[in-house]
This record gives sequence, structure tokens and C-alpha cells, in this order.
Amino acid sequence: MAIVENIQFIEKEISGKDVTLVAVSKTKPVEMLMQAYNAGFKRFGENYVQELVDKHESMPKDIEWHFIGHLQSNKVKYIASFVSLIHSVDSLKLLQEINKQATKNNRVIDCLLQIYIAEEDTKSGMTEEECLEILKAETLPNVRIVGLMGMTTLTDDETQIRREFKKLKDFYQTLTFNPQRLPHPSLTILSMGMSGDYVLAIEEGSNMIRVGSKIFGGRVYQK
Ligand SMILES: *Cc1c(COP(=O)(O)O)cnc(C)c1O
Repeated sequence: MAIVENIQFIEKEISGKDVTLVAVSKTKPVEMLMQAYNAGFKRFGENYVQELVDKHESMPKDIEWHFIGHLQSNKVKYIASFVSLIHSVDSLKLLQEINKQATKNNRVIDCLLQIYIAEEDTKSGMTEEECLEILKAETLPNVRIVGLMGMTTLTDDETQIRREFKKLKDFYQTLTFNPQRLPHPSLTILSMGMSGDYVLAIEEGSNMIRVGSKIFGGRVYQK
């Protein structure tokens, strides 16, 4: 598996565009991440708290760790001291816990609100209404909401995928172009697009892509 070549290929595709690549390394061993690291790539996305904690402990400390999976409130404390960006905030309760743990660690944690965009799937996330309520609520001093994240329906229907991306982009624009309405003028990240659909996502306005299998190869899950 030519990990470094795969990253270079994608970085070439996005060069000159305002797009950030997050290499999704869930289930992959440290040795594979180190291949990327040794070639100068230092931004990884993980889905599972324990796995992220283990990798953070055993790898160099200048890595930017993104948490992209479903996050349980009672596990925030394990990653709060070092996580760079949490993509998957899906409730006010979770955001409040992140704020609490960030305060304990004397830092501010950047977060994305995960918005439910899939038309026929069970992906997690919040509705646009819930998102607006959180953005209008009193700000929590130790979290910074810096953007939105979304995942499309698992389908081959390109028209549908585009439609779902576009819906999130439109919502994002209503927030970023009207910052005076909200106490959060700092929304600058739109995280959408994975291995199978990041090209479409970028065409529809994504500026952060989360690519796993196209870099590290397919994943085998154990039950
Ligand atoms: C696993 C995962 C990815 C990467 O998926 P690939 O299809 O392997 O690129 C991206 N985002 C989230 C939230 C994921 O869980």
C-alpha cells in the first residue's frame, strides 16, 4: 500500500484549492500512520476514543488529531487535552461536556457541528434547527464552533449525493454570510467528502475532506 503516494496524489488534486486533507486512519496500525508522518503529513482523523488515545501516546506530539466519529459525553475527558478538532458534535449536551473538559485542561477546543444531511440513512447528526439553537445560545467560553460537518447517504446516485452536499453548503453559507445574527462569527470550515465522494464534495463547496480507504486501503472490522 503506497500510503505516501496516495496522499501526494490527493494533495495534488486539491493543490491551489482552499481544501484541507484529513487522513482518516481508524483501524490502521501506527506503522502505517508513521509512513505518512515521516513524509511530512501530520493531520489524522480517528473515530474511536481508545484508539486515538493509544495512537496519541505512541506517536510524535506535533500531530494534529481530528476526532470524527460518534463521541460519547463520558469519553470526552480522555481526548480533551490534545484533540485539535472535533468534527462530530451532535448535541448541546456533548458541547457542554467538551467545554467542561476543555476548561479543566485550560484550553479552547475547536468543534464542528455535525448536521444530518442524508436523505435515506441513519447517520447521526443534528437538524438545521438544532444547530441554529446552539449557535444562538449563550457561547461556551472553552469551545469554539468553527464550522459544520456532514455525511451523505451511502449510495451510488451522484445526483442525490450532490444534492445533499449542496444542502449543507447552502446552510453553511446562510450562517457565514450573516454572522451578525449569531454570536459565532467564526464558521470557516465545511467538512464534507470521504474517499468515494470527496471530488463531488469539493465541487459543491467543501473545504475539508476526510479520506481514509483511498489512502490506507480498505478496513476490516471485527465484531
Ligand atoms: C471512516 C470515515 C471517513 C473516511 O471514510 P473513507 O470512505 O474510508 O474515506 C470519513 N468520515 C467519517 C466520519 C468516517 O467515519
